Amino acid sequence: MLDTQLTGQVSSHLTQLENNIYIHHAVKSPFTALQKSAQKAGFHLKIASGFRSFERQLSIWNNKFNNRIAILDKNERPILNNTLSDIDKLFAILHWSALPGASRHHWGTDFDIYDPNQLPAQQALQLNTKEYDQDGYFYDLYAWLNENMGEFGFYFPYRTYQGGVAREPWHISYFPISELALIEFDLNILSTLIIENKIAAKSLICQQLPIIYKQYICNVNIRDGIVI
Ligand SMILES: [Zn+2]
Repeated sequence: MLDTQLTGQVSSHLTQLENNIYIHHAVKSPFTALQKSAQKAGFHLKIASGFRSFERQLSIWNNKFNNRIAILDKNERPILNNTLSDIDKLFAILHWSALPGASRHHWGTDFDIYDPNQLPAQQALQLNTKEYDQDGYFYDLYAWLNENMGEFGFYFPYRTYQGGVAREPWHISYFPISELALIEFDLNILSTLIIENKIAAKSLICQQLPIIYKQYICNVNIRDGIVI
């Protein structure tokens, strides 16, 4: 992938899956196959969030850093932002939100998934762990994916918490392409991008970039059950 594709600045690597959902062109066919298999098992597998642009991620970042969107603690409860130092705020945001340019959603290989048919009436999708854990309404979907999606090349890069990004049982990744993207993605691409853009806490980010790269970008779960 080009640097501009890896960092979500262009859409030339994407194809439309449905309204407002764009994914990497080479992932459409394996994802459709996964959807069909899920359907046979009784699930309506849908993408809540596919490709996300650099601009979108930048706006999330700036809104969180400037206290316009709540920052969640590790237990998914809003933090009173003004109690945090800038450095603590930076790492609190990184627990749930990627640095602009460093989101796996930029690649079009990674999606947040759910099943609209399992969502209770009047209930808005939260994308929180309660929904996907045992007793949650998406648990059966999670368990089915855990068991079966490896056959189609998908896995959970954030299946367990490893000291970086939070556990995200809704985030799946198409390994054959996301693995290559992660190899191609390096610190220089990211530091150039951060320097060139209007991003909150820029100098702090630049100073922490090697740690962010190691702890939040490269630190993903090893794949399980991928057979292709
Ligand atoms: Zn995600």
